[in-house]
Amino acid sequence: MARNILLFGPQGSGKGTQGEKLSAVLHLPYIVTGNIFRENIKQNTAIGQTIKGYINAGKLVPDQVTNTMIGERISQPDCHAGFVLDGFPRNLVQAEALDAIVPVTHLLHIAIQDQSAIQRIAERRTCVANGHVYHLTFNPPKVSNVCDVDGSELKQRDDDTAAALTQRLTIYHQETEPLLGHYQKLGVVYTINGEQAIADVWKDIQALFA
Ligand code: AMP
Repeated sequence: MARNILLFGPQGSGKGTQGEKLSAVLHLPYIVTGNIFRENIKQNTAIGQTIKGYINAGKLVPDQVTNTMIGERISQPDCHAGFVLDGFPRNLVQAEALDAIVPVTHLLHIAIQDQSAIQRIAERRTCVANGHVYHLTFNPPKVSNVCDVDGSELKQRDDDTAAALTQRLTIYHQETEPLLGHYQKLGVVYTINGEQAIADVWKDIQALFA
């Protein structure tokens, strides 16, 4: 049976760090809405031009754009055995759109406090080439300011400012977190303590798929 896995949790909960490992271990594509959007902005595509203002302000991109993009992506042949999806769905309209395409088999809810999110995002750095994620204290690159994986430069994201982060956390609590109720009814929610060290969060995730 396909494993259609959602990574769920507030900004800075470690979805990116854990999601890359999980997709590698399970041999499933890792699909990150934020990365796809940022790539469109970098390439200055028509979608990129439409969404840039939303992203930099910390607002959600309109559902129609997001749902179409994800619907097309998860219908590709490489998703037949499943996928690890990070950043989608973020509201009920998106969740219903996803349910209409495939059943979600696991929702990994990585739970952290807002205070931790704020502290982590302040020290988050992301590689410009592929969006690999680092933390200056807890998960630093081997060479300062250089991505371990692809050698590209590390930068702070444009929406990792204090103002945009406050907006993103507010949306998370108002629109995204309530989806837990929706998926709890389907019996697919697994909550993990995201306040732990990266290695311990990873152990908890691995145990679910052992
Ligand atoms: P992230 O990298 O997950 O923090 O996403 C960065 C930004 O991309 C968000 O603040 C939104 O502006 C946009 N975004 C990512 N995923 C979605 C989504 N499912 N729906 C709408 N906007 C999204």
